[in-house]
Amino acid sequence: MGQFDKSYELFNRASTVIPGGIPGHQTPLIQVFGSCPCYMKRAEGAHFWDVDGNEYIDYMCGYGPMVLGYNHPKVEAAARAQSEDIDTGNLPTERYIELAEKMVDIIPIADWAIFGKNGSDVTTYATRAARVHTGRSKIVMVEETYHGIGTWALSGLIAEGNMPEDTANMLTFKYNDIEGFKRLIEEHKDEVAGVILTPFHHEATHDSEMPAPGFLEAVRSACDDAGAVFIVDDVRAGFRMHMGGSLERFGVRPDLICFSKALGNGHPISACVGREDLKDAASQTFFTGSFFTSSAPMAAALATIDEMESIDAIGIMYARGEMLKDGMLDQADAHNLEIIYSGPEPIPFMSFKGEHGFERDKSRLFSEECFKRGVWLHPLHNWFISAAHTEEDIEKTLEVTDAAFKRVKDEIG
Ligand code: PMP
Repeated sequence: MGQFDKSYELFNRASTVIPGGIPGHQTPLIQVFGSCPCYMKRAEGAHFWDVDGNEYIDYMCGYGPMVLGYNHPKVEAAARAQSEDIDTGNLPTERYIELAEKMVDIIPIADWAIFGKNGSDVTTYATRAARVHTGRSKIVMVEETYHGIGTWALSGLIAEGNMPEDTANMLTFKYNDIEGFKRLIEEHKDEVAGVILTPFHHEATHDSEMPAPGFLEAVRSACDDAGAVFIVDDVRAGFRMHMGGSLERFGVRPDLICFSKALGNGHPISACVGREDLKDAASQTFFTGSFFTSSAPMAAALATIDEMESIDAIGIMYARGEMLKDGMLDQADAHNLEIIYSGPEPIPFMSFKGEHGFERDKSRLFSEECFKRGVWLHPLHNWFISAAHTEEDIEKTLEVTDAAFKRVKDEIG
């Protein structure tokens, strides 16, 4: 029996009835195909088990949602209790108001909140609300940034099926290019409805980039001068860097913030929050979905926020992330391997110097060895730390990464 036999048996079965077998970002085709699991069976805390019975310490956290640990007793109890009354129905429940009040309370820029399901729902909504607010058409975004599956947001390999007009109102610039950004805004001053940015640049297949000194301040002041709306896409980073929105860490305040992923610790919910002066435009921007008012995910989100506040989840994630980072940097050094360890501690990424894009032989070999030994991460996409990762998890992980670095050194050099 191979380590992943059942996974690939299921993947083959899936491929006959599901386009691509596993669609989207979870496809094993961009992982280490043949040497990574494809299907999960169950999960608890920071660990999960695949269908072949292999256990992993999880550094992808569902690509972000799992922030307090899988199957968190308080979050699950809150969701279950709400479901016993009503989850999806004809009307919202009071949970909608309670969650909006909670977000207004903890997020300094938030005077209101509106809820959807996925990150794409709210990033698309935010750009539309910015257009309604300003009466202008153009949205400025960073080149090669993922903001979801709205056709406006797709470019490159993932834009198959799009038409040129889908992105005709998008203007792009290079992350951290302050002068290029200022020029772009100057050229289109009267047309720009909004600027949308992630709190740091965390694009898959790239090293992460933190905002350069003055970059976020330049965006804030250009938006103020041009009368444009500053939107932060905090879908991936939200509730890992700061409870009040990730830009609070940098002391810069946007006008709208989009959240999803970690908000409900795995329950499907997203949110757009904003300032008072955008509330009229927000209420004129049509936003709805059959499941947008489902109450169990809202109860889960309330419980998630309460628990995160009471245990200082952000502090735990920074501490665990720092332990992993320091350990891996020391190991790479000891094996005489040049690595780039990027991103904030709770959302790190590691790459090998000289490898780019999808061409990452060392990263793939490193990941393969980690999977074999029970650590789940990704060769191309940033990782996630949760508050459920214990010091013991990190210690065990470092034993595995040490062996993985050794294999890279021995086999590739
Ligand atoms: N924005 C960012 C920064 C994301 O990382 C993602 C998802 N990876 C999205 C938007 C889209 O969110 P969703 O997949 O939930 O629609």
